[in-house]
Amino acid sequence: MEPLRNIYPLLTAEKNIVITMHQKPDGDAMGSTLGLYHFLIQFGHKVTVISPTNWASFLSWMPGCNKVMDYERTIEKSNEIIQNADWIFCLDFNTLSRTKRMEEVLTTAKGKRILIDHHQQPQVEVFAYGESNVDKSSTAEMVYDFIAASGYHDKINTDVAECIYTGVMTDTGSFRFPSTTAAVHNLVADLKERRLNHSKVHEAIYDNFSENRLRFIGNVLLNRLEVFYENNTALIAVPQADLIKYDIKTGDTEGLVNYPLGIEGMKLAAIIIDRGEERKCSFRSKGEFDVNTFARKYFNGGGHVNAAGGQSKEPLETVVEEFKKAMKENRDQLSTYKF
Ligand code: 5GP
Ligand code: MN
Repeated sequence: MEPLRNIYPLLTAEKNIVITMHQKPDGDAMGSTLGLYHFLIQFGHKVTVISPTNWASFLSWMPGCNKVMDYERTIEKSNEIIQNADWIFCLDFNTLSRTKRMEEVLTTAKGKRILIDHHQQPQVEVFAYGESNVDKSSTAEMVYDFIAASGYHDKINTDVAECIYTGVMTDTGSFRFPSTTAAVHNLVADLKERRLNHSKVHEAIYDNFSENRLRFIGNVLLNRLEVFYENNTALIAVPQADLIKYDIKTGDTEGLVNYPLGIEGMKLAAIIIDRGEERKCSFRSKGEFDVNTFARKYFNGGGHVNAAGGQSKEPLETVVEEFKKAMKENRDQLSTYKF
C-alpha cells in the first residue's frame, strides 16, 4: 500500500471514481464518504457513492445523500459502475468483508483500491494506496487531513464541512471521547471559519427521531437491561419481537449501548440485538478494557479499543450465555476499574 499522498499529483486528471464504506453506514461512514465526494466532484471527476446496504434515515438530510446508491437495491447497475471505476475509495472499514455482498465485486474490480480508515488490523495487501491510523478520531478527520494536505484546502466548501463535521461529531460522541485531540478542535475551528452551521448538524442528527424510538428505548432500559456490578458490566438483550412491536428501523438502535455506561463504575457495556437473520452485538468500554480484542475473540467481530461489534448466528439466549461466560473469563480485568 503506497502512501495516500502519492495520489495528489493524479488528482486533476478526470476519472471515474467510486467511494464506498462499511455496511449499515453510521455518521462517520456517511460523513467521510460524502465529504470526499463533495471535494472530488470539484475536479470534474465522475464520482458515485455506493453504500453496501441501506442506512438510518437520520443521515438522509446530508448534502448528496439523495444520490448515494444502495448496493442491495441496485446490484447490476452498481456492479457496472464499480467495474468501470479507475479509483475505488474504501472509507471507514478495514477489510473488504465489511461490505457484505459487495465484497466480491470489490475484490475483482480492476480499478485501484484506496483505503482511508481508522480501524485496527487493515487488510493492507488489497489496497494500492491508503492510510490507516487508529489514533484518528474518525475517518472524517482523515478525509479532512487528506484535503488539507493536498494543496486544495480552499475546496472545503460548506457541503464538505457539514459532512466532515457529522463524521467527527458522531465518532467522538460529540467531542467527549479520548480520541478528541487538539487537532480535532482545530479542525472544527477551521470548519467554523468556512461558515459551518454546527447547530444545524447536531439538530439534524440528534433531534430527528420518531416517538416509537423513544418508547422503544424506555422499554429496553426498563425490561431488557441486566447489570453485573461484580464485573462492572451491563448487558442489554433485545428480542426481535421488540423491534417489530415498536417498528424499529435501521439506525434506531444506534447509541443505545452507551446508556448503561452512564451507571457509576461501569467499565463494559454490551447490547445484543436479535435481527432475525443474525444476532448483532455492540460493545463499549471505558479505560483500558479492550473491546476490539474481546469482539474478535468471542463474537467474530472487531472495531476499536473502546467501541467494537460482532455477530453470531446462534439464538439470542445462547449469545447471552456466551457473553456472560466471556465476561466471567475477563473478570480479573473488569473488576479492577482503572483509567
Ligand atoms: P457499532 O457497535 O456502532 O456497530 O460499531 C462499533 C465499531 O465496531 C465500529 O467502528 C464498527 O465499524 C466496528 N464493528 C461493528 N461491528 C463489527 C463487526 O461485525 N466486525 C468488525 N470487524 N467490526 C465491527
Ligand atoms: Mn469511523
